[in-house]
Amino acid sequence: MKPAIILHGGAGNWKSNKIDKAKKLLEQAADIGIKILKNNGSSLDAVEKSINFLENSGFFNCGIGSVAQADGKVRMDAGIMDGSTLKCGAVGAIENIKNPISVARKVMKKTEHCLLVSKFATEFAVKNGFKKINIKPRKTKKTLDTVGAVAVDKKGSIAAGVSTGGLGNSMLPGRVGDSAIPGAGFYVNEFAGAVATGIGEAFIRTVIIKNTVDMVQECKSLKEVAKFSLKTLKQKTSCEGGIIILDKNGNYAAYYTTKAMPWVYKRG
Ligand code: ASP
Repeated sequence: MKPAIILHGGAGNWKSNKIDKAKKLLEQAADIGIKILKNNGSSLDAVEKSINFLENSGFFNCGIGSVAQADGKVRMDAGIMDGSTLKCGAVGAIENIKNPISVARKVMKKTEHCLLVSKFATEFAVKNGFKKINIKPRKTKKTLDTVGAVAVDKKGSIAAGVSTGGLGNSMLPGRVGDSAIPGAGFYVNEFAGAVATGIGEAFIRTVIIKNTVDMVQECKSLKEVAKFSLKTLKQKTSCEGGIIILDKNGNYAAYYTTKAMPWVYKRG
């Protein structure tokens, strides 16, 4: 089976001078993922490592590039899921850790839980060898340049992941968005995986990503599935957004109703 990966850099009001840089970084992240997949690595590794690259870039609203909540503090969300076992791990409102997606993966691997939050997520990270660093908030008022990835490996296992600093200073301290909530911000089963980007509360209220993945089995076109989900989102919540989907055979869709959403797809 030919492996594949799809990544997005957030659906929002992108300025054209920034989108080229975003695409370049997404390309580099996709290369990291594809290399892992070509060397018989797992889709979970491909998703985690390509997102690590984006978290470390400082360009996107995740990892060291995250924005602050209303009290001036950076609190990040991340989630990762394995389609072949339906196991998932997530962290909500984690502070001062460079790579929340990797902590999410540790939650999946080392605990019986799906989600750890706030100082307890940070404590769990430190206990598991992650270094505490001071993350200075990026000075942007409102941003939607979250990152997400879905990959399928040579065995046909699909994984999905997402990492974000959230919605900027409109967020009350302690707010957790869709990126930490399976079914809302990300979901994957043995047939397909999907990741959302946009106003997290809208994705939580509609649990749109679980529905999106379920619809893949019933529909032929992934683009139609993504289009339908975003139409529903708009009807029910008046919010715009973006979705990436990848199925077991490497078919994909990247669809958004915002001004732009940088994304990249690569197949081994
Ligand atoms: N969904 C993210 C959140 O609400 C933001 C984004 O996708 O850019 O935290």
